[in-house]
Amino acid sequence: MTLTSEMMTRIKQLRAQLNSYSHQYYVLDAPTVPDAEYDRLYRELEGIEKDYPEAVTLDSPTQKVGAPPLASFSQVSHELPMLSLDNAMNNDELTDFNRKVRDRLKGLLAEGQELEFACEPKLDGLAVSILYEDGQLVQAATRGDGSTGENITLNVRTIKNVPLTLQGIDFPKRLEVRGEIYMPKAGFEKLNQNARENDDKVFANPRNAAAGSLRQLDSRITAKRPLEFCAYSIGIVSDEFTLPTKHGEILQNIKRWGLKINSDMAIVEGIQACVDYFSELGRKRDNLDYDIDGIVFKINDLDIQQQLGFVARAPRWAIAAKFPAQEEMTLLEDVDFQVGRTGALTPVARLKAVHVAGVMVSNATLHNMDEITRLGVKIGDTVVIRRAGDVIPQVVTVVIDRRPASATDIIMPTNCPVCGSKVERIASEAVARCSGGLYCGTQRKEAIKHFASRKALDVDGLGDKLVELLVDAGLIDSFDDLFHLRLEDVAKLERMAEKSAQNLLDSLEVAKTTTLGRFLYALGIREVGVTTAQNLADYFGYLERIQNADEATLLAVPDVGEIVAQHLLAFFAEPHNQSIIEQLQKAGMNWPESEPVSAEESAELPLAGKVYVITGTLAEMGRDDAKQYLQALGGKVTGSVSAKTHCLVAGEKAGSKLTKAQGLGIDILDEAGFIDFLRLHGVSGV
Ligand code: NAD
Repeated sequence: MTLTSEMMTRIKQLRAQLNSYSHQYYVLDAPTVPDAEYDRLYRELEGIEKDYPEAVTLDSPTQKVGAPPLASFSQVSHELPMLSLDNAMNNDELTDFNRKVRDRLKGLLAEGQELEFACEPKLDGLAVSILYEDGQLVQAATRGDGSTGENITLNVRTIKNVPLTLQGIDFPKRLEVRGEIYMPKAGFEKLNQNARENDDKVFANPRNAAAGSLRQLDSRITAKRPLEFCAYSIGIVSDEFTLPTKHGEILQNIKRWGLKINSDMAIVEGIQACVDYFSELGRKRDNLDYDIDGIVFKINDLDIQQQLGFVARAPRWAIAAKFPAQEEMTLLEDVDFQVGRTGALTPVARLKAVHVAGVMVSNATLHNMDEITRLGVKIGDTVVIRRAGDVIPQVVTVVIDRRPASATDIIMPTNCPVCGSKVERIASEAVARCSGGLYCGTQRKEAIKHFASRKALDVDGLGDKLVELLVDAGLIDSFDDLFHLRLEDVAKLERMAEKSAQNLLDSLEVAKTTTLGRFLYALGIREVGVTTAQNLADYFGYLERIQNADEATLLAVPDVGEIVAQHLLAFFAEPHNQSIIEQLQKAGMNWPESEPVSAEESAELPLAGKVYVITGTLAEMGRDDAKQYLQALGGKVTGSVSAKTHCLVAGEKAGSKLTKAQGLGIDILDEAGFIDFLRLHGVSGV
């Protein structure tokens, strides 16, 4: 095949585009397109260069690593180059890698002899080299273009899990540890939340956040960022030191010297075991504390690694198998405004359907108008969508250079799209709301769904669909109407019959007797979640006392701040709400009221001072009930495992919290064990 001038033009276009994206990504820490788009263009160029080797030039992006260092940092020459990795996008490419390696090793491997691989989660951060001399950290550098990186010693010294002095005495005189600096998911969420509140820069993903935090000229800023380091190889090692012969053993040495290595790393035999490891980690991916974009498979034997050597930008003995990308780009076709339970209008992006992380996505939340302003997004824009784990897909950036002239501004409607009432926005709030209250059909439905939901009155058999049917049929307008439903009316509804209608009425009868905490939560007062409602019930004991409490008294309740106190005051001051409560009581709603639990009494409860974490699926009772039982016994229930946790209640499919608790030697109860434990503490009916 001859290289046509069209082909040359395409090659030039691709190189220019990739170089520009690389500059934005590596140098400015501000990519404008998702990795998936970069990878598509890269692979297109790679494919053409494979067909036309004469077109390959040394400065082609396929021959280069990263990008040159920023001039504002002093530079570090890597004594041994820091390379990139070849990628496998699917199982076929992974087995192809194995086949190529075996072909190269012909004669060296016995018949049927499998290769040993180290499997390492591919952390999505920045590659960094850290040099120790006589056990002291003397230099740290970014990968840069592979031969020259940026001197980031001061910044790396601020990262808490990077030791400034190696442990033990048996380390090499000179040792270069290589690994990834990354930002764990929880730290990333918190950093962005703070940034939103303070109008600071919001990062699109944990990798950008890690890169932006590490490449700061002022190391005091880096020190404040939740960065971590995880080692995955070594570079320079002084001659007097005899290295082990396996990569896995080197990692164990690194661990003994006090550096973190990945605890999910494994050594396996044969490529099928790699494929299995890839699937298993793929399933765990969402539950890990950190973002990974794939798995790195490395031949474990260092002699074999040496036999295989390197190509221009990557070793031949390793491959990065990539997971489906969590970011993709697509067209924002329109924006709708959805009305929620409290009347909040949420802008929802209607997207041209696109695959993200293995799922077809056609909607994404835009949160509120402030977020739209921050993103600078318009209808008609090409946008980057991120879908990580169970989180609702988000619009993270706009690809500005693809904005068409026809793009239009997104405007908040002045009237509610459901009921036509005026939309209001309080100056201090990011959210705009429909002022229709229970007049608005959507708010009415959502409020009743909430009232009947599991954490509230837990009305058996009254699901979302049935609430919609009841409201649409005009049978219920407010909460208390539920308790005046007539059998014959309910039985007439779609897919209902006399028996199911009777069951519903029976469940409603049962639900009339509840607890004060559940009743308060069921009312749907803004910002009053399950825990706050329970705290209010514990603190006051009687509904009347809560209704009459002033701001100062409310503020004394654990978990109640100024905003919650204001919402409570406003709710109980509203005559309409007072009448709803009266009507509910008249309809027979009741709960035991008692003197509040005093501090002395709660200190005497059997689990006082103990901290519990609940994870996984509890098939018998559900996590909310488990939490309430523990709290009733005086225990504290928190969301994350730490050294302060006394016990982890781990149901089915428990993930990273279980691993962490095991690592910390914390007591663990499965569901059966937990039920025994509750019975032992006098809880009946479980
Ligand atoms: P890479 O990320 O595909 O693989 C190499 C890197 O993996 C190493 O440098 C290291 O940082 C990391 N790594 C993580 N765990 C590792 C382990 N256990 N062992 C070894 N290395 C490990 O290659 P790259 O050259 O750093 O970057 C290419 C990636 O960057 C692609 O995914 C590409 O999409 C993205 N990129 C995106 C843009 C953009 O505009 N969005 C631009 C340029 C590059």
